[in-house]
Amino acid sequence: MSKYLDCYDYAAIHAQAEHVVKHRKKLRRDVVQKYLDWFDTHCATSKLRFQQAQEVIPGGIEHNLANNHPFPISIDRAEGAYLYDEDGNRYYDLLMAGGPTILGNNYFGKECAQFIIDKAPLTGLYSEYERKLAELVCQYYPSVEMFRMLGSGTEADMIGVRLARAFTKKKEIIRIRGGYHGWSDQFIYNASEAPEDAACLNGIPVECFQSTHCVEPNDIEALEQQFIENEKFGGTAAFVMEAIGQDSGAVPLTREYHAAARELCKKYGALLIFDEVVTAFRLGMGGAQAEFGSKPDLTIFGKIIGGGYPCAGGVGGRREIMEMLAAGINKNRDKKVRVGGTLSANPLTAYAGCLTIEELAKTNAHETLAKASDYFMKEIAGLTEKYDVPALVFNHQSILHIDVAGSQHIPTIYKKDDPEFARQSKEASQCVMEFAMALAAEGTIISGGGKTYLSCATAPLVDEILGSYERVFKGFE
Ligand code: PMP
Repeated sequence: MSKYLDCYDYAAIHAQAEHVVKHRKKLRRDVVQKYLDWFDTHCATSKLRFQQAQEVIPGGIEHNLANNHPFPISIDRAEGAYLYDEDGNRYYDLLMAGGPTILGNNYFGKECAQFIIDKAPLTGLYSEYERKLAELVCQYYPSVEMFRMLGSGTEADMIGVRLARAFTKKKEIIRIRGGYHGWSDQFIYNASEAPEDAACLNGIPVECFQSTHCVEPNDIEALEQQFIENEKFGGTAAFVMEAIGQDSGAVPLTREYHAAARELCKKYGALLIFDEVVTAFRLGMGGAQAEFGSKPDLTIFGKIIGGGYPCAGGVGGRREIMEMLAAGINKNRDKKVRVGGTLSANPLTAYAGCLTIEELAKTNAHETLAKASDYFMKEIAGLTEKYDVPALVFNHQSILHIDVAGSQHIPTIYKKDDPEFARQSKEASQCVMEFAMALAAEGTIISGGGKTYLSCATAPLVDEILGSYERVFKGFE
């Protein structure tokens, strides 16, 4: 009962999500204990490192991209398809640093090291690679006439909104519930969707997000209603959406919704902003906008733009909007939008980004990745059927959703005030955590939540990686 699904068939995905949520299975308790024991015996250095880190780092960890249960694994090095921890364990890397290292780990390590030796990673002055990178982005994204590099996806989302407000002279922002647009005061998870969730809001004044409104995914009527409602407060500056749906497409958006989003933005004089932090250059060279044939006013880019080198992000779009940015030499500064960033567009990252984009195009990487991903996911679906594990199994090319918990779909099934909502959310997060822990013990590190990624380095190894999944599925109730 876990068929391989088409990522554009939202109805089938929603129906399967409901099945997963209502018939969710867990790993057997003896199996969970076996994996906990594995961590104790095989990852003693990681365990020690975590204890040491907690003395000087709040919570002992600074990255929340992956599963950290029972404790974070301390990685020593990464190469190609693999991660190596301090205890000498080797893992297949399906996390890929949260997506950006599409070509594999340390693909241009030698070139970048040589660049640092010959030229230095940071000067605070212009380097030719900034222009080259901007040209490459404009070349592959017809909606992008100008591009501005920034330090992270979070910064790019912040600046996208600031530009939209300055350009439209409106204030209200619409986003889709569950979408992630970084951790700024305005966008941090849950702020505008669950103001009652105090844990998300410590340190954030309510004014920071009270002009940001959440709508349900794929509900065109609700979206228009929000545009209408916003007219009372001066109108909508922008509709911001993860272009394939929340959490890298865990709840995919339909083609109709995409078309309606474009139309409604036009009708109400708002900018359409695609957050393509995960999808740009991963979902083909032209990202999600090429896939959907849609043209946003602004596009948010993230870590992929630097090929996995720090710090990377950027915003691009229509010339008349982008020209409002005020870094550099500008007349009429009073009419501009301020932006900065010491590490933005640093020579090393711009250089690594150019190398990566050119290599992706030259090797036709996306075609190979898409083929390997489709094959892998069909095999995964077969395994979930064989071991009778209810799961959502679909992929947007190399963005893979292998979801045994259905976490992202719980709000589409239960209302927030239904006691089942809280119970389900708790059970689902335990399930996700144990699944990722089991896979790590079986030799594969995945991303947090239900999604994960293939790279050009892991694509040739999918048959071996399937072994990790099969051993884990065997351990389900
Ligand atoms: N938008 C999306 C869709 C993301 O997935 C992320 C992070 N993965 C961000 C924004 C924030 O990017 P960063 O972590 O570089 O700040």
